[in-house]
Amino acid sequence: MNKKTVIIIIIIVALISLFLIFYLRYKPIAVLGYHSFTMEKDSKDNLTINIDKFEEQLKYLKEHNYHTLTLNQLYEYKQGKRKLPLKSVLITMDDGYQSNYDLAFPLLKKYNMNAVVFYIGENVKKENSPYMTIDTIKKVKEEYKNIEIASHSYDLHKEGAIKQDKVAIKEDFKKMEEVINSKFFAYPYGAYNDNIIDVLKEEDYKLAFTFGPSTKHRKMYFFDNNYEIPRLNISNDMPLWKFILRLKLPF
Ligand SMILES: [Zn+2]
Repeated sequence: MNKKTVIIIIIIVALISLFLIFYLRYKPIAVLGYHSFTMEKDSKDNLTINIDKFEEQLKYLKEHNYHTLTLNQLYEYKQGKRKLPLKSVLITMDDGYQSNYDLAFPLLKKYNMNAVVFYIGENVKKENSPYMTIDTIKKVKEEYKNIEIASHSYDLHKEGAIKQDKVAIKEDFKKMEEVINSKFFAYPYGAYNDNIIDVLKEEDYKLAFTFGPSTKHRKMYFFDNNYEIPRLNISNDMPLWKFILRLKLPF
């Protein structure tokens, strides 16, 4: 081997090592986004996941040693204050459906996994709705230490509602804090603008999550803006191989 070849090999090895060190330190994290669940085999709504499919996904995560994060763990990672296991995911569920409590939470407990529900505050008042009531939320806090409840706004989960001025958005956040006191937020329909980001910052929110595919549908990177955290939407028509692929791909 001549000198030139040796130098080239050294450079290549150094570059690969640098890439690996960088990748392990700043690895992309899959933030999985769910909504509701059903026992029906053929869910008519793609955002309502068949519960056996969900269990299959949890089983995969468990058997392959995935670590399910808490919101604070993810935040500390984003702040550079915490290292995360190589295989880390955050499980999130939007809106606060009763089916989360009836079907998903027992499975999460069975597999000893953490998850977050982004709850719509206004639903505490609704009787006989598909959403968890305030009594159920209280039960969740007692029965499921592995489940965190965070904010999906009090009453902004309506077409165009986030286009209101900052005063109105602040008012909404105040009302929400009386129901759920959390500094983590998921944008209704994943939509956001400068106004709502300003309010989140002024009110010291730590992280805010968006949603694909209209905005972003990819893994979260260390350098992502704390108020634009992307998620991977998990739909009912997603076969297990595709779920696994999404976990393994770096984006
Ligand atoms: Zn929602």
